[in-house]
Amino acid sequence: MADGAPKLEANLVTIVPEAEIAGLMTPQDAYDAVEATFAAMNSGAAYNFPVIREAIGHADALYGFKSGFDKDGLSLGLKSGGYWPGNENRGLTNHQSTVVLFDADTGRVKALVGGNLLTALRTAAASAVSINHLARKDAKVLGMIGAGHQSAFQMRAAATQRDFEKVVGWNFHPEMIGRLEETARDLGLPFEQVSLEELGAQSDVIISITSSHQAGLMADWAKPGTHIACMGTDTKGKQEVDPALLAKATVFTDEIAQSITIGEAQHAIASGLINETDITEIGAVINGAHPGRQNDQEITLFDGTGVGLQDLAVASKVVELALERGVATQVNF
Ligand code: NAD
Repeated sequence: MADGAPKLEANLVTIVPEAEIAGLMTPQDAYDAVEATFAAMNSGAAYNFPVIREAIGHADALYGFKSGFDKDGLSLGLKSGGYWPGNENRGLTNHQSTVVLFDADTGRVKALVGGNLLTALRTAAASAVSINHLARKDAKVLGMIGAGHQSAFQMRAAATQRDFEKVVGWNFHPEMIGRLEETARDLGLPFEQVSLEELGAQSDVIISITSSHQAGLMADWAKPGTHIACMGTDTKGKQEVDPALLAKATVFTDEIAQSITIGEAQHAIASGLINETDITEIGAVINGAHPGRQNDQEITLFDGTGVGLQDLAVASKVVELALERGVATQVNF
């Protein structure tokens, strides 16, 4: 090598393929990683970069990047992927994503991790974190709005947080309701298909996880003391609940910047029903800076928009587990 030429050092990149994730990552691992991330975001140790999301004009797909940096955990990287609505007909998941992690000291690529199952686990973990910190302790009925791919993960994660005795469910496409019924059965919980109004009347905790573009759950339908996790709205124009419900509720979110632009709060903000200052980061509750729920009559609402740092946190954890258990594939890059 000529004097002064840069040294080409071997760089081991860890690959954790999609098929390995299920055997490595538990919902509890995802919960712990996501809760710690929300806390780090609130304390200022971790921040997300602006999201890129574009309709690419091919296959009806939405494609983008979510990225960020956690100075405490030294997680740096991005999740790239999006939504391909035609995938189901090919036997594939509509959401497709991959996480790339980089070494925060050198910028060299560190890991390539399948992001599909991780997305479902981290999204379910986010609503579970909100239920743990905000729902009434005596919550008994779980209401599920939405019966798509994410809904089963959501129900399973929620069931770890409270002693639910029953699940009630509603879906825009009634023929999909079987997914909720089967998941509830697996969890040993009775299931009832109900109207949205009835779902509001019965539920102590409601999770909405749909791709709806108009309000379904009306403000008057949620009973006092309910906790609502709005998990489906992650893009401008999507909407799951009546904006008046956000005015009635104490509103929490993963990240305020996303909540007011691409989250459920975008509509209540646009119509002047709430201000940005009415929204609290869930990290503030985790860190003890905000008391969270203050009485049994309060309606709490978590606007879970989905941040890149959640993806980096669960991907970093899965790389750690793969290395620990000797199942990681490593290549020189
Ligand atoms: P999916 O395609 O499997 O299911 C879509 C769901 O939305 C079904 O229940 C369907 O019946 C319902 N739906 C479709 N059109 C509707 C309408 N007009 N009104 C009411 N409901 C309607 O999708 P999925 O993977 O279950 O994801 C559901 C939503 O969650 C999507 O909007 C997705 O972008 C979002 N999501 C959010 C996060 C996050 O971090 N917040 C993460 C992953 C997915």
